[in-house]
Amino acid sequence: MPGHGRTRTRWITSVAAAVTAAALLAGAHTAGAAPAAATGSDPVATHEVEHFEGPAATPRHKKVPARPPAKVARHQSSAPAAATAVTAVQETGPVSGRLDLVVMGDGYTADQQADFRNDAQATLDAVFAIEPYASYRGLFNIWLVDTASAESGVSGDPTADVVRNTALSSYFFCDDTERLLCVDTSKVTAYANQAPASDIVFVISNSAKYGGAGYSFATPPAGASYHGVATMSSDNAKSYLIGAHELGHSIGDLADEYQYAGYGAYPYPSSASANISVTAELDARKWYRWLGEQDPTGSVVGTYEGGDYYETGVYRPTSTSLMRTLTSTEFNHVGRETMIKGFYTYADALTSTVPTGTRVGSTQALSVRLAPLTGLAGLNLTWYVDGRQVTAATGDLSVTPAELGATRSGQRVTATVTDTTVSVRDPAVRAATANSLSWRVR
Ligand SMILES: [Zn+2]
Repeated sequence: MPGHGRTRTRWITSVAAAVTAAALLAGAHTAGAAPAAATGSDPVATHEVEHFEGPAATPRHKKVPARPPAKVARHQSSAPAAATAVTAVQETGPVSGRLDLVVMGDGYTADQQADFRNDAQATLDAVFAIEPYASYRGLFNIWLVDTASAESGVSGDPTADVVRNTALSSYFFCDDTERLLCVDTSKVTAYANQAPASDIVFVISNSAKYGGAGYSFATPPAGASYHGVATMSSDNAKSYLIGAHELGHSIGDLADEYQYAGYGAYPYPSSASANISVTAELDARKWYRWLGEQDPTGSVVGTYEGGDYYETGVYRPTSTSLMRTLTSTEFNHVGRETMIKGFYTYADALTSTVPTGTRVGSTQALSVRLAPLTGLAGLNLTWYVDGRQVTAATGDLSVTPAELGATRSGQRVTATVTDTTVSVRDPAVRAATANSLSWRVR
């Protein structure tokens, strides 16, 4: 992911993990003792997570330790393998132009790697059946990182006293909450760094017990490049929705659309989130363009009171959605549009192997590639010479400057792709879908 410098104003924060992945890889973490902070001056290493007591329960938030408690930690092996197998489930483009999703398992032994691959595939198939992931899957690279655990299954399954030695130290009953499935994030980082790039990590724990957690990071943890980690269990039919919901935060910057009883009135003057408004009369930054539309979630887009954890004085676009409850398997129109904006924040639909920084000959082929998008997406490729469109070349994946009429030294040839998807109505979001590559004739 290029450094987009995205700003985050949401509740999600993290304190840097005290032990870096580098230290872990060097074997600094010794088995048999509770993990200690690398230096005495480090803050307590914790992460904010969102967790789910059940498929129909309102999600909760907690601050959890970055490392497992002593009773789990003392049974863990010392360090991840320095070299593990990394497999591309799909590699659709350069890591600089793609969202890189890393999937790793926990509680799978060396003999169970085929199980892991099957479980990972099933999870990915379920998540990428949801729009707009389905249409935009081509903007992702997906990497499987093998993690062989000493024991099969994870700690806390089925009961709190069960402890297993696993690669990522996954454990239910995190912070005394049964369905909260935590991991050792420094171990996740060590494995994620084996992949060519990591923007988002899915940890699939070998368990049939419902549970998971969403870790979102305003800045990546020490030594990591990812912005979010979603944990989920492998053999529970509803756990994949935890991953689908968490990507809504970490890719789309969407707010939660649920509320808590007793929270009362919204205490903030505004919300930076696209799917939350403090007024029922929507201003230009919110979703007024979708009002009255029948929505994929089943209701009509409007202003429904309650959201972003509060009950009154705050509005969401639809009665329900995947950002409100995991009983819904759809983003609403506003969520879809915002997710598409998020995809293009991290990824580019237009790439080329011809470097843009160098001058090109007038008869040199300028070949470009479009991401393999489907469904809702509609890529439109246009060509320009010195800013003037050459309409005859629209859609051509390979041209020469001369074919476009650019034969003089210094003339500029530009390829531009725009997404004409009907799932985007905000002109600013439409503009954000566009990407251009330019070359100068030598
Ligand atoms: Zn959430």
